[in-house]
Order: sequence, then structure tokens, then C-alpha cells
Amino acid sequence: MDSGELSSRTGIPVCNIRSARIAEFIDGSAQPPDPKRCIKCGKTLVPDDSGAHKKFINRGATLFLCITCLSEYMDVSEQFLREKIEHFRKTGCTLFC
Ligand SMILES: [Zn+2]
Repeated sequence: MDSGELSSRTGIPVCNIRSARIAEFIDGSAQPPDPKRCIKCGKTLVPDDSGAHKKFINRGATLFLCITCLSEYMDVSEQFLREKIEHFRKTGCTLFC
């Protein structure tokens, strides 16, 4: 998988995929990217991870960052993202039910 396809499946612009080194995990692997694992660090995703990626990056994404990598990518703290997720959950956002 190249950066272009990765971009269309994550909603992250190609230049950001390169500059944030998001593709490194995938580039070093013979395996196709796994939608159940973070595309940057390879950690197994929980529903909040993919929900946050959809919420903050792209609703149509089919490959995701975990919350830790997402906070790095967005240049915010992981705590900030978790508080946002809690807020969205309380307000009934269907991505975090
Ligand atoms: Zn990650």
C-alpha cells in the first residue's frame, strides 16, 4: 500500500502521512494494514480509537490511528482527546456509544 491509498483510507493528507511518519509501521511490514490495529504504532485498537479518528480526522476512514498517535498527530494531549471523547459520548455522539 502506498501513501496515496493510505491517505484515501485514513482521510489524512499524503504530505501529513509522510511528515508524521504514519506509514512507517506499514512500510516495514509485508502485511496489508489491519483495520483493527493503529496504522502508526500497530497497537490493537479499541472502539474509542477508531471513533476518535472518525470524529477528528475523517468520518469515512477505514484505517485508523490509536488515541495516543492521534493526539501526537493533532499536537494535543491524549488527556484532551479523552475528555473530548467523554464529552461527545455524553452528548450522544453515535461514534462513542
Ligand atoms: Zn498508535
